[in-house]
Amino acid sequence: MIIIGIESSCDETAVAVVKDKKEVLSSVVASQIDVHTEFGGVVPEVASRIHVENISYCIEKALKDANITMEDVDAVAVTQGPGLIGCLHVGVQAAKTLAFAYHKPLVPVHHLAGHIYANELVVDMKYPVLALVVSGGNTELVYMKDETSFEILGETQDDAIGEAFDKVARVLGLGYPGGPKIDKLAKEGKPVYELAKPKTQGRYDFSFSGLKSSVLQFTKRMERQGKTFDMADLACSFQECALDEIFSRVRAVLDDHKDIRHFVVGGGVSANSRLREKVEELRNEYPEVEFTVPPMYCCTDNASMIGVAGTIAYLSGRRGNASLTADSSLEIQ
Ligand code: ATP
Ligand code: MG
Ligand code: FE
Repeated sequence: MIIIGIESSCDETAVAVVKDKKEVLSSVVASQIDVHTEFGGVVPEVASRIHVENISYCIEKALKDANITMEDVDAVAVTQGPGLIGCLHVGVQAAKTLAFAYHKPLVPVHHLAGHIYANELVVDMKYPVLALVVSGGNTELVYMKDETSFEILGETQDDAIGEAFDKVARVLGLGYPGGPKIDKLAKEGKPVYELAKPKTQGRYDFSFSGLKSSVLQFTKRMERQGKTFDMADLACSFQECALDEIFSRVRAVLDDHKDIRHFVVGGGVSANSRLREKVEELRNEYPEVEFTVPPMYCCTDNASMIGVAGTIAYLSGRRGNASLTADSSLEIQ
């Protein structure tokens, strides 16, 4: 079975061809990072316009790289949401056009389900699964009793963790996107600075805005007092605090739900090297649970994961029709 997946929820225009759920025949990602770097973050209107410019080329290239034509495709999968509405529209319109012009089924896909299913490219997920989604717009702990059910156990009460990495990087003058830059700088530092510990109500919920403000206040205080500080130490202190927040919640869920067989991570922050180390620590603490972090190439936005999610949704019978529209706050499905 061959699925073409289309992704345009944020600042990557991506198209991939996936065979039999797991084999990536082609994966094209046109990133707009260079353009948005100038503005220090993604500008939604600019992003949608660039998606319009890139989408046709990405579709043609993905088909060509996979050495197939649309006639060989079984279904067209597309990210319906969540994401930036103008950006999502471009992918959804392109997918509808392809599906109806070539008489192929249309399959709407949830972007975060895509980040979770990216793990299927390297392992067979064993249910019940606990999925940690750590991305630019979301931070969630999702319990999946089977392949198509999603129960959100905990989520962020304010900023997403990726957003906190990006904002702290901006405060430190490191540029956009900040995640990889903080990751690199933190390796040279020690977690010596005390920052505000996040406070949340729910046992599995997250909060990052207090931590982010605490970094800003710290730099202002140093400036006011005419003191210098070590940037690498501050990056490391922030990263440790943010990841402690994540892993204390993960441990709480694993302790409370003994039926969980597999823990997987998804989303751009799963590329973080310290997060990957911390998953290794869990492996020793919970020997009965399997642990997987997606390979680096499919952590941040891509369409291979949409192809995998599309295959699973297609097999479960999900279809979109001519009235399918993008949904910026789509519930996970
Ligand atoms: P969402 O998936 O919630 O819609 P998004 O698609 O914009 O948001 P992703 O592409 O999944 O987000 O991830 C981008 C985020 O990942 C950015 O915030 C970026 O800073 C972060 N990120 C990427 N690499 C790293 C890293 N090595 N360490 C920490 N954060 C990282
Ligand atoms: Mg992006
Ligand atoms: Fe994403």
